[in-house]
Order: sequence, then C-alpha cells, then structure tokens
Amino acid sequence: MMFLTSILLPMLLSAQSCLATRATVTNPFAAPCFRAENRSNSAGLPSCSEVQSNYTDRFFRLTSAGSYMNTQWETCQANGSQCLLDWADPSNLLAFETPRICEQGSVPLLTAEIENAQDVATALKRAKLLRMPVVVKNTGHDYKGRSSAPGSFSLWTHKLSDMSHHANFVPEGCDATVSAITIGAGVLTGDLLKFADTNNLTIVGGNDPTVGAAGGWLQGGGHSFISNTYGLGVDRVVQYRVVTADGQYLTASACRHQDLFWALRGGGGGTFGVVMEATVLADPKVPVQVALVSFNANDTTTRALWELVLENQLTWSASGWGGLVNQHQALYVNPILNSSAANASMHPLAEFASNLKDAVVKSVFIELPSYLSFFNTFITPSPAPVGENVALASRLIPASLLDSPDSRSDLLDALLASAANVSDIRIFSTTPFSFNSSSELTSVTPAWRTSVFHVVLDRVWNFNATKSDISDQYEALTASVGSLRDITPPASYQNEGDIHEPDHELAFWGDNYARLLSVKAKYDPDNLFDCWQCVGFKSDAPRFSCYI
Ligand SMILES: Cc1cc2nc3c(=O)[nH]c(=O)nc-3n(C[C@H](O)[C@H](O)[C@H](O)COP(=O)(O)OP(=O)(O)OC[C@H]3O[C@@H](n4cnc5c(N)ncnc54)[C@H](O)[C@@H]3O)c2cc1C
Repeated sequence: MMFLTSILLPMLLSAQSCLATRATVTNPFAAPCFRAENRSNSAGLPSCSEVQSNYTDRFFRLTSAGSYMNTQWETCQANGSQCLLDWADPSNLLAFETPRICEQGSVPLLTAEIENAQDVATALKRAKLLRMPVVVKNTGHDYKGRSSAPGSFSLWTHKLSDMSHHANFVPEGCDATVSAITIGAGVLTGDLLKFADTNNLTIVGGNDPTVGAAGGWLQGGGHSFISNTYGLGVDRVVQYRVVTADGQYLTASACRHQDLFWALRGGGGGTFGVVMEATVLADPKVPVQVALVSFNANDTTTRALWELVLENQLTWSASGWGGLVNQHQALYVNPILNSSAANASMHPLAEFASNLKDAVVKSVFIELPSYLSFFNTFITPSPAPVGENVALASRLIPASLLDSPDSRSDLLDALLASAANVSDIRIFSTTPFSFNSSSELTSVTPAWRTSVFHVVLDRVWNFNATKSDISDQYEALTASVGSLRDITPPASYQNEGDIHEPDHELAFWGDNYARLLSVKAKYDPDNLFDCWQCVGFKSDAPRFSCYI
C-alpha cells in the first residue's frame, strides 16, 4: 500500500471526521525525503534535511508518531513496503529517490495522542468500529515490533509525562506507606532519574535516557545497572493505574486487582491494558562507586577479560556490583560499598588494566555523588544505537555456571562462539541476583532470580536488505545464541529476546505462563491487545503479517 494514497485511508479519515476524533494520520518518519506526490499531507512534518541529520538521534525520533527506534518495525518485512533512509549515510539517494516510494509498512495508519483515561476508552471504541488492530506506543523502542502493526490504530502515550514524589505513599487498599514516585506512562528514564536526584532519591531505570520508564520496560522486566542491588523495574512497582479492554479505569496494587497487578509486573507491555501511570519505590540518594576499563581489544585480551569476569562475578555481584562487559570494555557501578572497599573488591580488574599497558584507553575507579551522576557520565554518552534495523537475542545465565572451573570454561567457550557471529554482544550483570525478593510477587520468569548475567546478542542490516537477507539475519541470530542455549535452562528476557525464540512462553515466563494466560482471558477476553510473542499471542492474526 503506497504511503497515504490508498483508497483505504480517505475512507478511514471520513469515518474519523464523523467521530470528531483526535486521531490523525501517521506519517512514516522519513516521509519528508520522498517525492512529494507520495504524500497527501506534509503539514507539521520536519524537512528532509532535518530528518537526515537526526536519523539516528533518539531524542528527535521521540517527537514523531511514525518513528520506531529499531527501524525494521516501520517496515513490512514480508513484502518490502518501507519508507527508510540509509542509516549509515542518510543522504544516500538510493534509499529515497525514484523508483523508491514511501510506503506505510508497519507504521500505524492512525494515531491518537492519549491525555487521559477517557481518551483511551474512546480510542479503543473507535479502533473497534473501524476494525483496526490496536497498538500501544510509548517511545517506540521495542525490539520485537510490539508497538507498531500494519493498518493499525496507535494509542500514543508520550504526553503522559507527570511525575510526583510521595514520602508516604499508600498503595490503594493497603495500609503500609512507602517512599515512591508516581510517573505518567510517557515519562522517559532520563527525566525520571533527574527528578529522583533533585528529590535526593535513587530510582531504578533502564540504561538509556529515552527508554520509557513506565511502558514496556516496566511491564516486561526492566533491568538496570543497579538491579543487582535494587531489583528489576517490576520489583519496584507498588501500583499501576490501567485502562482495560472494556474501557474501565482500574487501580492495581498488592491490595486491589491483585491478579492484574501481578500480571503487569512482568507479563509484558501491550497485553493487559493501557497503563496510564505507575508508582515505583524510591530509595534515598547514595554515592556510587564506579569501575571502568576500556581498551583496544584483540582476541586474547577479550578472552582474558571474560575469563576474569567469570571468575569474579559471583563475588562482585554479592558485594553490589552490576554492569556491562563486552569485547573491549568492563563498566561497573556499586551503590553499597565505600571507596576503599570498592577498590579492594575491584583489584582484579585494576590489575587486568595495568597489565594491558598501552592498550588501555580508559581505566577509571572513582566515587560519584549519585546514580544520576554515573548515568550522565557513563551511560548517556554511549547508548545502544538507534535508527537502524537490528534484531536481538538474549539468554539468562544461571549463577551455577560460575561455580566450577569446568562450567566457567564451558560458558566462556559458548560466549566466544556466540560472539563470533553477531554484530555485538553485551554481557550484563544487571539481573536482580542480590536483591531479596520472592519470585511469586512478579510474573517475569523466575530464572531472573537465579541468573547472574543477561547476555544480549544482536545483528544489524541496512535499508536495502532483501527479504531473504533479512531472514538470513534472523536465522543467523537464532543460531548464534545456540551455543548459550545448549548450556543454560530455557530462559530469556522478553524485551530483548529473539523474535523466533523456541518455546517462547517458557523462555520468557517459565512456570508463570498458565496463570498469565488466565489473567489475560479475564481482562481481555477478545484479545483486543495482541502483540508478537505476548501472552495469548495468536501468530496467524493479520497484524502479524509483516513478520518473517
Ligand atoms: C536503545 C535501547 C536501550 C534499551 N535499554 C534497556 C535497558 O537498559 N533495560 C531494559 O530492561 N530494557 C532495555 N531496552 C528494551 C526495552 O525494555 C524495551 O524496548 C521496551 O519495550 C521499551 O518500552 P517503551 O515503552 O519505551 O517502548 P514502546 O516500543 O513504545 O513499547 C514497548 C511495548 O510496551 C507496550 N507499551 C508501551 N507503553 C504502554 C502502556 N502505557 N501501557 C501498556 N503497554 C504499553 C507497547 O505496546 C509495546 O508492546 C532498551 C531498548 C532500546 C532500543
């Protein structure tokens, strides 16, 4: 279907005007660069040169209803319908000059900007009337395409940006008070961390300033550099307010609609309703210790770093360190040790750095005044790329694999084998390993609690990949994670998992899946909210026709 020129769209618009709706046509992000006759309406769009110069800018992308951070989810991979630029060179004419045209792909046809619960109820009714699949979009960061769908009606939550701190918050129906922050569904991680810091608080947030703090991150798990000590995002929620498929506005807490509360704490975004706000625990602000070693890597030094990490991680996790290791860097943060204890515990890493001699790029062991300070100094300047086509796969690595030299050696071999065939590998020690919580309280796979690493692999491709090239990328990714699958239990992080994860219900939710399915049937019996590999997912629905 050519961008905005189909017969369908004028019909939808006329139906929409009868309904006096606030939904508008969704323009693909790169539309301004394509020939004008492919566009029926360019009012309010940025210029092509603005799109080109900001093509991989996460903040700029946030402003567009038709933008998705991982751009294959703007396209229909099954039939090649797309409106993309060349991310490596956005001025490359081959991406957007004739004969290329801008096509809608999986970008929703219509978008309603949500400002309150009534807007959600109205939008859901309209989508039903128009027989359009519903998607909920917040920041568009999803790695699995769960916030876009061909021909869909999008509920965009980005305007829900309120935040408030409550020194004595009482979750509805409960008695005990907690220190907590209430955030609108559209609040960004970076803004939440700043707000918390200003109020002398520490808050758990994802490792990117533009990931939503209360959308898919907070319903799918939500790992952070400080999750080892403070828990996953879902561990910290004390209340959600949510509009369910029948338009009711419910409060879910440990004392109200407990089944829905449990399901939202890990069952996944876009599945049980539209979350309008969430209230999350806030701890006092504390100084943090930081350890960073980056270096010009070769096979030998990468192997040496990973060996060192596998030998020390159980001790490091037990003493509060969480972080990220890749082929050429180890970055850790610790919110519980003082400076001298931190230096003693990170001595093996410091020694590794000094042995690298001239290959060292940075070796930093410092104390910073707060988690925000760490985040601004070490996370924000080097985030995961966006504006590219990228596929991810993940594996949760049980702590038991670090117990013996033999199992560590098997894990090292598996990591090296996986890394050999991907664009990037990230070994996160961001599981809630040292966080004291019972796994029954949340619906993420219980494997998070016994895992010490969450390993993420990815592969990227550009605008001109054919359907068969893209299939090859997904297949190669699934194969790459195979060496880790062979030595680990079936457990993976749903938000960063393989879209072809075998037995995905077991991998993402473990024993929780059957109960999640019954909560889904209770609150959304008609499967109004459906997304790829989500609870109750029906893979043959037309909304999934673009997956390959
Ligand atoms: C660059 C980058 C960095 C990342 N870093 C981390 C990280 O450090 N830790 C981590 O755990 N994950 C991380 N992720 C993965 C992240 O958890 C997922 O992409 C997550 O789905 C993003 O949620 P969102 O609401 O921001 O995005 P969206 O794409 O807008 O939404 C994602 C899913 O949530 C649903 N959803 C969104 N808002 C609502 C709502 N209000 N109510 C109901 N459903 C909703 C959508 O329908 C969709 O299914 C990262 C992703 C990227 C691209």
